[in-house]
Amino acid sequence: MSQKLAGKVAVVTGASKGIGAEIAEQLAAAGASVVVNYASSKAGAEKVVAAITKNGGKAVAVQADVSQAADVTKLFAETKKAYGKVDVLVNNAGIYEFSPLEAITAEHYHKQFNLNVLGLILATQEAVQLMGPEGGSVINIASVVATLAPPNTSVYSVTKAAVVAVTRSLAQELGPRKIRVNAVNPGLVETEGAHGAGIIDSDFRKQIESQTPLGRIGKVEDIAPAVVFLASEDSSWVTGETLYISGGLR
Ligand code: NAD
Repeated sequence: MSQKLAGKVAVVTGASKGIGAEIAEQLAAAGASVVVNYASSKAGAEKVVAAITKNGGKAVAVQADVSQAADVTKLFAETKKAYGKVDVLVNNAGIYEFSPLEAITAEHYHKQFNLNVLGLILATQEAVQLMGPEGGSVINIASVVATLAPPNTSVYSVTKAAVVAVTRSLAQELGPRKIRVNAVNPGLVETEGAHGAGIIDSDFRKQIESQTPLGRIGKVEDIAPAVVFLASEDSSWVTGETLYISGGLR
């Protein structure tokens, strides 16, 4: 087993299921101690922690709604208490809701921006305070929709385009502190959230597959290795980058 992240501490937001759960497990398998953040699914987060510890890894579950500043402060206070520092932050927590233009409401807009953009910024603000002089790595899970921008996703797509812009801006701001900031843009991935949104069994999925050079949607196992790469020294001269893990879909 590779131990590229031995001695490192990683925080993964929204890690009780889906892409975040797999990222937490693969970071732990690479040697990191992992904070498994969840908003409401305590059982899901505890299952992820149990899978990691069964494999000989280290992890704790911490509840925090990342869209709420006080909860984000609590998340990093708990992280400091458990492991004393942060080396890697994976901003994975995110929601997707689709709507045609005429049905968009302020609530639809703020709900997605408060988590996907504001929550990501708040978490990064807290995490960098716990990174030492050796720096660290922030990985933002954006989406192929940042540029693909399919119909009926104008608000969600623009949250993810914002994440790419935040990534580029913070890479410049934090570079002098040896903190790297990169984004991963997954294509459509089969997760609990994607099933819940009705995407996996839809015509939209078929349409996406037909536009994808590699001809299929993704699995969580397709995404996590890219995050391990960006968390590790293998990517020590990579910052401000956006890596599409999407079967060639753009
Ligand atoms: P999911 O719905 O299966 O899981 C989302 C996770 O985020 C859960 O653990 C949930 O508890 C957590 N979460 C939700 N609200 C939260 C909050 N306020 N605070 C903290 N945690 C919260 O989602 P997923 O499909 O695994 O997506 C994960 C990320 O990947 C999201 O940012 C999403 O936009 C992005 N993404 C997903 C896909 C896809 O097709 N599934 C494609 C591209 C990008």
